[in-house]
Amino acid sequence: MSKPWGRTNAGREADRPLPKHSNTLLYDLHAHSTASDGTLAPAELVRAAATSGILNLALTDHDSVAGLAEAATAAAELGLQLVPGVELSVTWESRTIHVVGLNIDAGHTGLNEGMRRLQETRSERAQEIGRRLEKKGIPGTFEIAAALAGAGMVTRTHFARALVQLGHAASVRDVFDKFLAQGKPGYVPTVWAEMAAAVGWIVDAGGVAVLAHPQRYKMTGSWIRRLTGDFKAAGGQAVEVISGNATLSDIQTNAALAQRYELLASVGSDYHGPEQVWLKLGKIPPLPAALTPVWTRWETER
Ligand code: AMP
Ligand code: MN
Ligand code: MN
Ligand code: MN
Repeated sequence: MSKPWGRTNAGREADRPLPKHSNTLLYDLHAHSTASDGTLAPAELVRAAATSGILNLALTDHDSVAGLAEAATAAAELGLQLVPGVELSVTWESRTIHVVGLNIDAGHTGLNEGMRRLQETRSERAQEIGRRLEKKGIPGTFEIAAALAGAGMVTRTHFARALVQLGHAASVRDVFDKFLAQGKPGYVPTVWAEMAAAVGWIVDAGGVAVLAHPQRYKMTGSWIRRLTGDFKAAGGQAVEVISGNATLSDIQTNAALAQRYELLASVGSDYHGPEQVWLKLGKIPPLPAALTPVWTRWETER
């Protein structure tokens, strides 16, 4: 397969050789579109990524690959490498964990069967969130959230946007704190996929399973290590060392996880659209040089 970014890299190398892993800037392996809770359509996201200088973008919508075809078409036109991806919802030790699948065959039967069940769970949960909020005196949120989601997955982000529209909170973050986070009135305990099952679907679909944003689970260090160990034992291959606005300390903690459990290192903004003004596409710090980037898995296959 030819490298669509070859021309761009050739020009860049002629100007100045890139230091080791500085090409991290050119990779963003975690982003959302309107197929889940992003606000840009897949083609718009790809255009925004290309404008930011990203050469390798993974579209990783929650429990759905519905945006990948549109994204791939846009990427081909712009000479950007689209890495087909997904972000699967997993329940581990009664907690919700996200596992990103990268470089997957999006048509794989097992993966699609797994996602179909997760989509059913999502849709049942959305109705239950609506009922719970209605009991708290806020009717109509399911209908608004479903309309906002359109053909895409209904997520808590859509309920958050609905509640902001209805004037119940000032921001999406506010809604999570007041209504949607664990223990709040609109929170519905949900059983997602099992860790080993989700990792298995990704690996069977030819992909690389990545433990997403380890520092965002509000778990202690020892719990995160246990999670990472279980993830590795389930066949997981990589950990997202740099996510969104990770601090240097987050990055160092994640780098230590990657080394301790011999996992590849991934990098992704977890971009959801321009409304998140604090998060910019293409502004990702370089991976610590001791780590092996996850993309070596598919780039050496070419
Ligand atoms: P769901 O998978 O439907 O439970 O929705 C999870 C999504 O909600 C995450 O992927 C984030 O995009 C968003 N989210 C979760 N917690 C927060 C928060 N505290 N503030 C803003 N967005 C959040
Ligand atoms: Mn999201
Ligand atoms: Mn996530
Ligand atoms: Mn995400």
